[in-house]
Amino acid sequence: MVPVDSIRNYLTLKSGERHSKVVPRIFLFTRNKNEKTKIHMQKLILAIQKSGRLSDGSKDLLKLCGIKVGNGSNQFKAVAEGFPMEILLLRDDDIPQYVADGVADIGILGMNEVLEKKKEVKVIGNLGFSRCRLSVAVPRNAEYNGRSYLQGKRIATSYPAILDDFLAENKIEAEIHPISGSVEIAPGIGLADAIFEIVSSGGTLLSNGLKEVEVIMQSEAVLISNPRLSAEKQTLLDKLTFRMEAVQKARRNKYILLNAPEEKLDRIISLIPGMKSPTILPLAMKGWCSLHSVVSEDDFWEVIDNLKDAGAEGILVVPIEKMVL
Ligand code: ATP
Ligand code: MG
Repeated sequence: MVPVDSIRNYLTLKSGERHSKVVPRIFLFTRNKNEKTKIHMQKLILAIQKSGRLSDGSKDLLKLCGIKVGNGSNQFKAVAEGFPMEILLLRDDDIPQYVADGVADIGILGMNEVLEKKKEVKVIGNLGFSRCRLSVAVPRNAEYNGRSYLQGKRIATSYPAILDDFLAENKIEAEIHPISGSVEIAPGIGLADAIFEIVSSGGTLLSNGLKEVEVIMQSEAVLISNPRLSAEKQTLLDKLTFRMEAVQKARRNKYILLNAPEEKLDRIISLIPGMKSPTILPLAMKGWCSLHSVVSEDDFWEVIDNLKDAGAEGILVVPIEKMVL
């Protein structure tokens, strides 16, 4: 391997060209004894939400993947440190179009927005944050007796396409009123009989005199990509998804250390599924050993209770930063 001498980053934007023609490139200059060789490497262009409920989660995930979002040349673009990547900061509504058009190669946004915009993009996987649901809500005093209640009603929503699909699947004829914000106030001001909107805690519904009656879909942040990436960009995306998976596995699991009397070891081991099998180390105290393993967050408390009942002592639980299996 020849050492990398310097890295220069060029944006091949000629004056007057549309933004979509921007092709960020890195040129690595390597020195091979007397000769300087120029290696051309592409950058992956990632679109994330500029500000809102997805932006912190997106930046946090990138940071855990070893990618720092730096300050870019302007407020719509940021450079990434730690990965050949450039970041576009956009409204979440625009991300599916940018990715479908190839202006961005990949994007992070809510699955709700992917389904609403119906653009030609590939969903790579769930990212485990910005969880919410899309639900139908009606006035608190309405006698909701099932989906047929919606027949002939006016429904306000900022997700008209998803609502349209739901109504068609259920053979419901209703009037869709697309609204871009504050959908929850629509029934109160006489604009609609029901709403179809994002719900997380349900607090906004309550304060507007509404009740949630149907959950139509669950949503969380997802990674999407343009379906026709070059082989070079696909390799970069594979590297990125490998890092994201390691971060997500680590988030879903905890490292557990405990002390166990030797005579109860078999029973205790049977309670911990672990990665392969637990690590067992002898303690200075005769007849005792220390056991290390990994437990899933989902059944964590149940496993701890069972371990205590089986004779485990000194249980320590430690977060895992990355998990590569
Ligand atoms: P933008 O200005 O980018 O268009 P926005 O107002 O449309 O922003 P936000 O309210 O920031 O959007 O929500 C972005 C996404 O975050 C939603 O599409 C959804 O996937 C998710 N989301 C929305 N509300 C919540 C919530 N209360 N809890 C968790 N996730 C949510
Ligand atoms: Mg939006």
